[in-house]
Amino acid sequence: MTFSVHGLAVSRGIAIGRAVLVASSRADVAHYFVEASKIEEEITRARVARNAVFEEITRVQQDLPKDAPHELAALLDVHLMLLQDEQLILGVKHWIVERHYNAEWALTTQYEIIARQFDDMEDEYLRERKADLEQVVERILRSMKGAASPVQSAAQAVKPGTHRKQSQQDLLLDDTMDVPLVLVAHDISPADMLQFKKSLFAGFATDVGGRTSHTAIVARSMDIPAVVGARSASQLIKQDDWVIIDGDAGVLIVDPSPIILAEYGFKQRQGELNRERLNRLKHTPAVTIDGQRVDLLANIEMPDDTVGAVKAGAVGVGLFRSEFLFMGRSGKLPDEEEQYQAYRKAIDGMHGLPMTIRTVDIGSDKPLDKLAGKAQDGHLNPALGLRAIRWSLADPPMFLTQLRAILRAAAHGQVNLLVPMLAHASEIRQTLSMIDHARAMLDNSGTPYGAVRLGAMIEIPAAALTLKLFLKYFDFLSIGTNDLIQYTLAIDRADESVAHLYDPCHPAVLRLIADTIAECNAQGKGVSVCGEMAGDVGMTRLLLGLGLRSFSMHPSQILAVKQQILRADAGKLKKWADEVLASEDPAALIQAS
Ligand code: PEP
Ligand code: MG
Repeated sequence: MTFSVHGLAVSRGIAIGRAVLVASSRADVAHYFVEASKIEEEITRARVARNAVFEEITRVQQDLPKDAPHELAALLDVHLMLLQDEQLILGVKHWIVERHYNAEWALTTQYEIIARQFDDMEDEYLRERKADLEQVVERILRSMKGAASPVQSAAQAVKPGTHRKQSQQDLLLDDTMDVPLVLVAHDISPADMLQFKKSLFAGFATDVGGRTSHTAIVARSMDIPAVVGARSASQLIKQDDWVIIDGDAGVLIVDPSPIILAEYGFKQRQGELNRERLNRLKHTPAVTIDGQRVDLLANIEMPDDTVGAVKAGAVGVGLFRSEFLFMGRSGKLPDEEEQYQAYRKAIDGMHGLPMTIRTVDIGSDKPLDKLAGKAQDGHLNPALGLRAIRWSLADPPMFLTQLRAILRAAAHGQVNLLVPMLAHASEIRQTLSMIDHARAMLDNSGTPYGAVRLGAMIEIPAAALTLKLFLKYFDFLSIGTNDLIQYTLAIDRADESVAHLYDPCHPAVLRLIADTIAECNAQGKGVSVCGEMAGDVGMTRLLLGLGLRSFSMHPSQILAVKQQILRADAGKLKKWADEVLASEDPAALIQAS
């Protein structure tokens, strides 16, 4: 029966496919298709891993000391029993044979199905066996890790949405691996989401998360339809259900009827036509009707993202979120050389266009890794805790390593060094003295480095209210609206339960943004917006009217924003922007325009 689940729209477009449910803890398991000729090999790989775990547990059982607690032996019995469970074994085989899933994916898919059955059990003892099943599956996955499939790299080259061109009729009839897949999860960390960038999913949905949570930002950067904050989606949707992800409206439609499917198929094609039309603007300079030139820059997470940035016609990178180089590595941070190579690759990728590298913004909803995330959970307000520049200043050797790497990379192009989350004069002074120190270290070792323009992010109200101090020390400012809204309105940007109060058009937020742009323009200093607001076509005219001439956003948003700019008269918008600022209900004026 058809039903819908409402969430928050984070990435535009329509995806139609079968649901793949992924538990958060297993989000980093490899997902790829195996070729038909390798199916037997993949089944063998799954069997070998299972047998290895079986032998391992049997050995442990045999070696148990005589006085070992009886419960331990019983537990091992349960694990051995689960390893021989027909539903698990046949299920894994089914996913490999019928869907060409790789063994890990098949195993976790089948796990999700059985785990749900455990959840539904009346008997508490049986319900608790889910934890044992989980342990057994983790063991098999670990065993498989040692024997990765040779077809993995080739198969991972399958691009998201490859199959989206099929007609809806085909989708219903064709039950093979050619069916598009959409990922449904309770939560996915930003680092795991980055893994999925190379994967084959046509759309995403998660139970938790706000519109500007970092998971949503990475999902948006993949340019595929996504909905977050869909509350209980991962409970209501079953493995393999047909799901429509409407990334424009923030709705999931489960088990759609043929009429609904046809309607969404039509919408999907309209979206594709619209994209083709926008593509024609790629080489058109972003200039308003009254001749105001606007810089459209790219936000990137990894050096390879520069390919998409150049393709979309970005005139530089306005935000390289360098923390993604540091995340999901079990705390083993990249050394100076690795960072230098990464920054250099990004700089080279932009072919002479400016590159803005932000120093690490670890913390809050961007933990270093899952363990660190758990540790942070112990703090009541991680968004107000040791994050971004605070984290960097708390670990001088780490910060100096990053600064040296950025300065060295700056010898190869135009580099802007951007510092996140500053609020205090003392932090500014400490940061600048660290930069001087990094230069001195490079001088001492005779290592070449380049000049950088220094910028600060304005993302804490305290910073927006002390602009003169910031402009005394920095060459340019970049407004991080995602955090500026979060901290001005005291709304956790990653918490879907207060997402309705996360309001980019709140008069206080607009006032801080307007003042920052005006002060920078008055002093002839560069200013840009690099939060999600910059890529929101509903806000383009207002930002232009406020005097903004530099927008940084994910490459997929550049052409739509450019279209708005080409239709705008910046002179006329200035007067209107003043009215919006003075209004009690700015959102109404913005929507009406
Ligand atoms: C912001 O806060 O607006 C920003 C661009 O930084 P991040 O989203 O990475 O916190
Ligand atoms: Mg921020």
